[in-house]
Amino acid sequence: MPTESKTKKATAAKKTATKTVEKTDFDKKILFATSEAVPYIKTGGLADVAGALPKALNDRGIDCRVILPLYMDIKQELREGMEFVGNIYIHLSWRYQYCGLFKSVYDGVTYYFIDNEFYFKRSGLYGYFDDGERFAFFAKAILESIKLMDGFVPDIIHSNDWQTALVPVFLDVFFREDERYRNIKTVYTIHNIEFQGRYTGYMSGDVLGLPDWAREFVDYSGDVNYMKGGIERANKVTTVSQTYAREILNSYFGYGMNDILVNRQYKLSGIINGIDVKSNDPKTDKNAYVNYDLATFDKKVENKLAFQDALGLPVDANIPMIGMVGRLTHQKGLDLIAPIITRILDMGVQLVILGTGDYKYEEMLRNIQSRYPNNLRSLITFSSDLASKIYCSSDMFLMPSKFEPCGLSQMIAMRYGTLPIVRETGGLKDNVIPYDYTTGQGTGFTFYSYNAYDLLNAIERAVGMYRDYKEDWFKIVNNAMKQDFSWENISLRYIDLYKQL
Ligand code: ADP
Repeated sequence: MPTESKTKKATAAKKTATKTVEKTDFDKKILFATSEAVPYIKTGGLADVAGALPKALNDRGIDCRVILPLYMDIKQELREGMEFVGNIYIHLSWRYQYCGLFKSVYDGVTYYFIDNEFYFKRSGLYGYFDDGERFAFFAKAILESIKLMDGFVPDIIHSNDWQTALVPVFLDVFFREDERYRNIKTVYTIHNIEFQGRYTGYMSGDVLGLPDWAREFVDYSGDVNYMKGGIERANKVTTVSQTYAREILNSYFGYGMNDILVNRQYKLSGIINGIDVKSNDPKTDKNAYVNYDLATFDKKVENKLAFQDALGLPVDANIPMIGMVGRLTHQKGLDLIAPIITRILDMGVQLVILGTGDYKYEEMLRNIQSRYPNNLRSLITFSSDLASKIYCSSDMFLMPSKFEPCGLSQMIAMRYGTLPIVRETGGLKDNVIPYDYTTGQGTGFTFYSYNAYDLLNAIERAVGMYRDYKEDWFKIVNNAMKQDFSWENISLRYIDLYKQL
């Protein structure tokens, strides 16, 4: 029987043997500042990025650590590995607040946690009347707590979204005179431009404690705007796809930040997100009825048959199934689907939609389902199990977003050989290649205008090809399933960006 140490050695050897990620010669230290990170706490895509990118950078030999608030909702089992590093007091204008620092290592990545019960011992993450003060405190605490980090002084601080947008502002205003902070460079990434951290102008002095000369950094028509501060003071600004980086320069997509971004365009770029290719794999997905990969693609249809049965839909391998997973909001293109949904269903397809969101869309789906019980299933809930079943079982995946900074679902769908039908915007444009039958290239079906009939036409093309041109269909499936959406690859683009600093 193997001893425990032998087993450990064998596991370690196996890990080394499978690790093929090439190390980089880039040796700068990075502190990744975020308001959420997988596996500790998550409300959206930012948490996925914060869980995956630092890990991918560490795998390449870079010392990238993550810092986030110690929220009450972080589960006990994840708190167990945390060690207390030290504490310090923080000035926030006239306030003088306690700041504890905890540390934990997860999957090879060091995570720091800012502890302050007044601000973070509450359920949930956001939505409190004093969010502006809570995250101003967090930004200041990130910078102050570097003094406690046992000699870890980052060369680069990478902050994200409005919650940590003040880091580059505070760094320039309050910390540059200290030798340790003099050469720190900053990157600021916009994951969602809709949420900017906009508050009444009096906060500039009363909460942020900014001297008069620095208030213009965050001033936005008399208000305080945290995102503006991040854009103004960071050395580099990025967003999560190249197309979105261009789109947010105009007012349709820019939510009022477009003019500011146009002025700072010289330092703006877009880097598409990746997905976790281990947990999003049809070959190992535990929620699939039957696992498959490209070599065993003919097994995919067994998922459809089982899912049709489970949903009480007619069970027939020849009926095209179109899946959709996402928030039911205007962003995800529900206003395009609504006027043509009966025409989609009249094509004899099965449409399975999973998501929660605005009441009017939920009601619309319930209503149409009662008229088309054999063609529509609306699953108004949040369920990773059902999401997997949709990715495994559907033939096509619908994502006609009005805007989409990056989008993860289309990448997951392609990985599952479920061909995406998307609008050409943001990350959807960047990673779904429209199929061209003359060259055999492409990974899905796209349309450009925010127009319901153009969407209908794209669906008709997809369904037509599925029914009548199976050879082409499998060519696209083949192209889609071979795409590399791994963070391992994308981390190289961030390293290039960091090198420019
Ligand atoms: P968002 O704009 O919401 O961040 P993304 O496409 O970037 O959209 O990411 C959404 C992620 O959340 C995907 O992994 C998707 O599968 C998942 N998801 C969205 N809605 C649901 C739901 N109702 N149930 C399960 N998973 C969901």
